[in-house]
Amino acid sequence: MIRKLPSPLLKAMLVICLLSRALHAQVPPPALANAKGTVIINARVADGTGNPLRKTNVRIAGERIVGIGDFKAEKNDRIIDAKGLVLSPGFIDIHNHSTDGLESDPLAETQIAQGITSIVVGADGDSPWPILPWLDALRKNPAAVNVAAMAGHATIREQVMGKDFKRHATAEEMAQMAKLAEQAIEEGAIGLSSGLEYEVGSYSSTDELVLMATAAARNHGFYMTHIRDEGNKSFEALNEEIAIGQRAGIPIQHSHIKVSTVAVWGQALEYIRIIESARKRGVDFLADCYPYDAWHSNIKVIIPDKQYENPQSVEKALADTGGADAVTITEFKPHPEYASHTIAELAARRGISPVQMYIEIVREGDAANTEAGVIGKSMIESDIKAFYQQPWVMVASDGGIGSHHPRGAGTFPRVLGVYVREKKWLTLPEAIRKMTSLPAQRLSWKDRGVIREGAIADLVLFDPNTVIDRSTFAKPFELPAGIEKVFVNGELVWDAGNPTGARPGRVLPK
Ligand SMILES: [Zn+2]
Repeated sequence: MIRKLPSPLLKAMLVICLLSRALHAQVPPPALANAKGTVIINARVADGTGNPLRKTNVRIAGERIVGIGDFKAEKNDRIIDAKGLVLSPGFIDIHNHSTDGLESDPLAETQIAQGITSIVVGADGDSPWPILPWLDALRKNPAAVNVAAMAGHATIREQVMGKDFKRHATAEEMAQMAKLAEQAIEEGAIGLSSGLEYEVGSYSSTDELVLMATAAARNHGFYMTHIRDEGNKSFEALNEEIAIGQRAGIPIQHSHIKVSTVAVWGQALEYIRIIESARKRGVDFLADCYPYDAWHSNIKVIIPDKQYENPQSVEKALADTGGADAVTITEFKPHPEYASHTIAELAARRGISPVQMYIEIVREGDAANTEAGVIGKSMIESDIKAFYQQPWVMVASDGGIGSHHPRGAGTFPRVLGVYVREKKWLTLPEAIRKMTSLPAQRLSWKDRGVIREGAIADLVLFDPNTVIDRSTFAKPFELPAGIEKVFVNGELVWDAGNPTGARPGRVLPK
């Protein structure tokens, strides 16, 4: 690159540029430590690494943390007295569905209100495309939060196979997909995601995924996956995932870990044992988990064989999800009065069987070109607890701007309020580690997810005694309580219950 430069002036500029980048990557230049800044005093600091809380002052200047310790504030410093509050690194949501939401709501109110400072979009195989213009648009019109994007396997598959995707890909098609995956990562995607329970991804072979993951690994991407089955066949799906990681030599991020049908409820420890043994063999395996025991989707997702009007299929599916009294309608346009009732209740009222009731709702929905929304039980509490207590499991929402599941506005405060304060499953420093340095480790972000001198000032101040989620299935956008202030790249974006209007978010690379 230097050889092609036409003039010594340009060479000099390049050297300056490289020097300043090197400085940015290290500690801030000494001058910055004296610039006008913000000093947070009296907070108890959870530094993101899992270290115990410690009371200390933290000074921010520009985008960085420039001082930690028992120092005095300087003359022009703005002082924030954070007595009674905990200061932690900003929360990193590695599984976030805000791709569309960012455009209409760049302030990302439901996200910053939770203390989220960085999100990763493009999960479950479905990503923006092409990547570069999408990222460029975000650079021009930034959000309140930092954003990184995955390249979606299904998105790429459709680029290559078009509508003819209901089959295995040919060798030539696979090679093309691998090339596009590599290209997407060169353009700024940070890894490859897949969603193998969904229509387009479900037709792919293991070999196809290995080839694409290998291409992603060449550019230091990681592989994030919603595996092929989270219910009856979740163990098979887990083994395939581990094999893909090993064969491609790529770090794995297992999305929303769960054992989600009656047949596998109670088997989290066995699931964990398989993952532990892969980790011992050197597989770089991390997972995320959302803090809810219920999923929210359309009424058809519970039937894996897609035989929605076949009584045997419906009967089995209802049994697998915990029975007709465990499936609740959330909305149904042809019969709004069904909302908040289980299929069992509706069937009893009509004097028909739950299977007939299910089929009737599907038929009426099809006729009206709509589908009923349903909530189903995804996991039993002991399994959620077992997953959360693994050091390699982090917190992620699987929500995002506009999500109709309460996780979209409640995930991080819920873990702090329910799993830390009420149930005591986790210590506060460990929960914070799962929201900050652990996702940062997967993302190879050296300067985020931790409070130390020189790190980027993505920060959250919250009240550990009151922090709690308030979003529910009935009111999914209700904002949480207890998150007092949120800083992104050193700028205040959330203050005392309101967005400040600042949009300092950046597009983040590997
Ligand atoms: Zn998913």
